[in-house]
Amino acid sequence: MGITVDATAETALARTRRARRIVRALGELHPDARIALHFGNPLELLVATVLSAQCTDKKVNEVTPAVFARYRSAAAYAAADRDELEGLLRPTGFFRAKANSLIGIGAALNERFAGEVPGRLEDLVTLPGVGRKTANVVLGHAFGVPGITVDTHVGRLSRRFALTSETDPVRVETDLAALIERRDWTIASDRMIFHGRRICHARRPACGACAIARMCPSFGAGPTEPLQAARLVRGDAEAAR
Ligand code: SF4
Repeated sequence: MGITVDATAETALARTRRARRIVRALGELHPDARIALHFGNPLELLVATVLSAQCTDKKVNEVTPAVFARYRSAAAYAAADRDELEGLLRPTGFFRAKANSLIGIGAALNERFAGEVPGRLEDLVTLPGVGRKTANVVLGHAFGVPGITVDTHVGRLSRRFALTSETDPVRVETDLAALIERRDWTIASDRMIFHGRRICHARRPACGACAIARMCPSFGAGPTEPLQAARLVRGDAEAAR
């Protein structure tokens, strides 16, 4: 396996084709790629996504059953007893800020959206504590509206793939949106997140065990020797932490 992509000499068309090939190949590599957060409706997904800031999805999934059972509507969050809510959120970290966001979201949904989570990006980002990343997660997974979620994995992999040189998540999102077919935006993000968690890690990517190395100009960012690289690959349980 060697470097076969020279991104500096690549035409815009070639980059678009390579981006789409990468998305397809990641689909074959991670056919189970999907959002790891558990939810049953848009409000639950919005809450889980807010809680996932600076916290693993696994930990969020441990906490949310009790939260969802206690608060079943936007009105319930708006009227939440702050101490009680903070107590439930404590294991996810930053629990005071997260409780603030959820109480504020509940109030805003009640006041401006008849208690329902809106299905438009421009409305979602007006909710307290909700940025484009959270909004795109909710749009893509609860409403079926294609959205590119630029989290730490998607940002890092997009740069390693040389699909962007940007570090600002909104600019990364814009670059990816121009390369990837709109209908694939949500699944492309999910696949990149899985690849980032399992193989293309921040510190030592498992390049020698990476099935898309041929399409990646950053082959060699991590160990290329197959046995050494294979030891870096994480299974589902480890990757979810
Ligand atoms: S693991 Fe290495 S070869 Fe694979 S995508 Fe990441 S940087 Fe590229």
